[in-house]
Amino acid sequence: METTFEIVVIGSGPGGYVAAIRASQLGYKVALVENYSTLGGTCTNVGCIPTKALLDSTEHYHTAKTKFETHGIKVGELSLDFEQLINRKGDVVKQNISGLNYLMNKNKIEVITGTASFLSNTQIKVTATDGTETNVSSTYFIIATGSKPATIPGVVIDKARIITSTEALSLPEKPKSIAIIGGGVIGVEMASIYARIGVEVTIIEYADSLIPTMDRDLGKELKKLFTKSGIKVLLSHKVQSAVNNGGSATLKFLDAADQQQELTTDYCLVAVGRRPYTDGLGLDNTNIQLDSKGRITTDETLKTSEENIYAIGDVIAGPMLAHKAEEEGVFVAERINGQKPHINYKLIPGVVYTWPEVASVGYTEEELKKQNIEYKVGKFPFSASARARAAMEKEGFAKVLTEPKYGEILGVHVIGPRAADLIAQGVIAMEYEVTDEDMFRISYAHPTYSEALKEAYLISSGQGSLNI
Ligand SMILES: Cc1cc2nc3c(=O)[nH]c(=O)nc-3n(C[C@H](O)[C@H](O)[C@H](O)COP(=O)(O)OP(=O)(O)OC[C@H]3O[C@@H](n4cnc5c(N)ncnc54)[C@H](O)[C@@H]3O)c2cc1C
Repeated sequence: METTFEIVVIGSGPGGYVAAIRASQLGYKVALVENYSTLGGTCTNVGCIPTKALLDSTEHYHTAKTKFETHGIKVGELSLDFEQLINRKGDVVKQNISGLNYLMNKNKIEVITGTASFLSNTQIKVTATDGTETNVSSTYFIIATGSKPATIPGVVIDKARIITSTEALSLPEKPKSIAIIGGGVIGVEMASIYARIGVEVTIIEYADSLIPTMDRDLGKELKKLFTKSGIKVLLSHKVQSAVNNGGSATLKFLDAADQQQELTTDYCLVAVGRRPYTDGLGLDNTNIQLDSKGRITTDETLKTSEENIYAIGDVIAGPMLAHKAEEEGVFVAERINGQKPHINYKLIPGVVYTWPEVASVGYTEEELKKQNIEYKVGKFPFSASARARAAMEKEGFAKVLTEPKYGEILGVHVIGPRAADLIAQGVIAMEYEVTDEDMFRISYAHPTYSEALKEAYLISSGQGSLNI
């Protein structure tokens, strides 16, 4: 095996593998070090991909159960094969991993399996699972070691009854009940997966809203829809402890009135966020600094305190999202190459794959108010969309926030069918600084969900909706 490279990337998640591919495309001799036996990091193995596989399967089941009859479809008695649901998810993950193996071969990237630890700013030691050690030297390093699940005081994750999203993706059998600590993105996606197949789900959230970092209207609507679908949502509740009873878990928490409450469920899923991961990376042998949250500090070019070492993805500041990590991977490879790429962090979209989906880009209404920025709102409900009516997907709305004088688009927030795909339109509009008028004067195919955005732009501009 070669042991000297121009660029060594540590961690094969969406940040790392994309950085490695871009660096190789630019002609560098590249190695990718990964301590797991499979490539892809959190996203491919225990994050984005398996959650979406389970979300799709459970949404099919739920649609069959709740909507087929109205559509005139009769399929006999519906049943759920939980083992097959989990197995299919495993197959989807495997397909993605083999796609990554293909890409590494195609781009002639040397994959080194083992844990990387810095010996100096130009050399790492890679320790394989059998204990074999190899020293690897490089001109540049890109750290993309990602993140691990976090917890809160009083709650010790035992991976048996008090679990993280990783265990929740591979439960041995369908539980009867599950308590989820945290109503952020991971918590609400997990809640959807389990509630749709008939599991009693309780979300306990400390903040006074679900998905609290997004525009407040989105969390409000999601709570309404979750409650309607049978998910119990407890907001402004503070979890104090979680105990594994053997066959169940008991949570103690303070309710909104500061009264102590208790809940026993089959599992307690801890979904309170993730912490940057640098354990065992040997940063003490470099000048690399961490901030108060344990994230590697970088400058605006994503360079650490070492001239030749960069860091990207969940291990640095910014939203913990796969596409943010990917953008940074490309950015760093191109910076090393002397190019001048840019990332507009304000325009990294956030998506929640509940059904209906939630997606957002740009300023929230709360941020605009806080910063005293004037804005107008255009909001169009999917209940008034012909496409949504045809599909029986009438829940949610498209909301745009625009600057009053020129109509510049400041934020786009959608809760509704296919919001995850619709948001790309908002990103383009904002990146190219077009106005609400530009957006409503172009033609939208009819009937489509995207027309809801056209209507929202019409409303924010003061022109008035053509459909409500
Ligand atoms: C349940 C869940 C669902 C998610 N869904 C989405 C989604 O739908 N969309 C989205 O955008 N984001 C989603 N995310 C977040 C997304 O997975 C992360 O933002 C993304 O994976 C971060 O990429 P990364 O490259 O920074 O790190 P990671 O994907 O975490 O990869 C880091 C890799 O580095 C390896 N590593 C660590 N230390 C070392 C070392 N010393 N030596 C060698 N290797 C090392 C790790 O084993 C890991 O494989 C989800 C996360 C979770 C948990």
